[in-house]
Amino acid sequence: MPNQGKNVLLASPRGYCAGVDRAVETVEKALEKYGAPVYVRKEIVHNKYVVETLEQRGVIFVDETDEVPEGSHLVFSAHGVSPAVRESAAQRNLLTLDASCPLVTKVHNEAKRFARDGYHILLVGHEGHEEVEGTAGEAPEVTHLVDGIDGVKRLPDFPEDQKLVWLSQTTLSVDETMEIVNVLHERYPNLENPPSDDICYATQNRQAAVKEIAPRCDLVIVVGSQNSSNSKRLVEVALDAGAGAAHLVDYPSQIDDAWLDGVTTIGVTSGASVPDILVREVLDYLAERGYADVEQVTTTVETITFALPRDLRVPKR
Ligand code: SF4
Repeated sequence: MPNQGKNVLLASPRGYCAGVDRAVETVEKALEKYGAPVYVRKEIVHNKYVVETLEQRGVIFVDETDEVPEGSHLVFSAHGVSPAVRESAAQRNLLTLDASCPLVTKVHNEAKRFARDGYHILLVGHEGHEEVEGTAGEAPEVTHLVDGIDGVKRLPDFPEDQKLVWLSQTTLSVDETMEIVNVLHERYPNLENPPSDDICYATQNRQAAVKEIAPRCDLVIVVGSQNSSNSKRLVEVALDAGAGAAHLVDYPSQIDDAWLDGVTTIGVTSGASVPDILVREVLDYLAERGYADVEQVTTTVETITFALPRDLRVPKR
């Protein structure tokens, strides 16, 4: 039986970004250097497989620093932490390693600088997301969360001479954020833009790649976890860009065969916290169902890397 033109378009870039790579390696190197258990505050990155694999190797994930025995090693996750969390870890004499992505730290530094210079900050992001909590925690008195277009209505009026700037979570939809920012500019004509993009290169590149393939796809499968902001955005971007359907799955076992009914072209991509082994498992699953013809569509090549935290770097000889 011919495969009736069934094929897969594999988006590139996809999967691990430099910040996730560094965060996961930080935990792995900490395990090697200090031995288990190593504690991690929150999920190191928002991916089920990564978290479960590290748990099996002796990592204990906690919600807060007060769950960690005094004097233990604690890693801060890629999403960053507020000064209050650092302070509480110091009070418990925890030996901390910071796996915060440098691009999240960049937004923290912007928040600190604008707060010091007398600004109020309109922070575009998702309520309850760890990154947003960390960034807002740098200047809680002057930071106002804007969660979606509706969030603009809930903002207060500011005196005319109040300096205002907007910042954002790193993993938002580029297009949706621009819509929100346009509405913010209409409401606050003196609102200033951040000095550079807060939505990170990896989020932007993965969205651009899925946008490229989506119009040709009857179905797009995004590999990623439900609590991964950038993975969920890929589903939305694929649908907005014209995919017939789009679904988020952690594993191939979550693919419903009914999704493949009448489908010729399937797009595959993955969020920035997803190891490529999970994508390969999805490709194997699709190949078994006749979608063995895989064309990689590359929109850009990423070369960025971040150095490990100082305590874990191998000294140069
Ligand atoms: S998605 Fe962006 S901000 Fe988040 S860890 Fe990766 S590079 Fe850093």
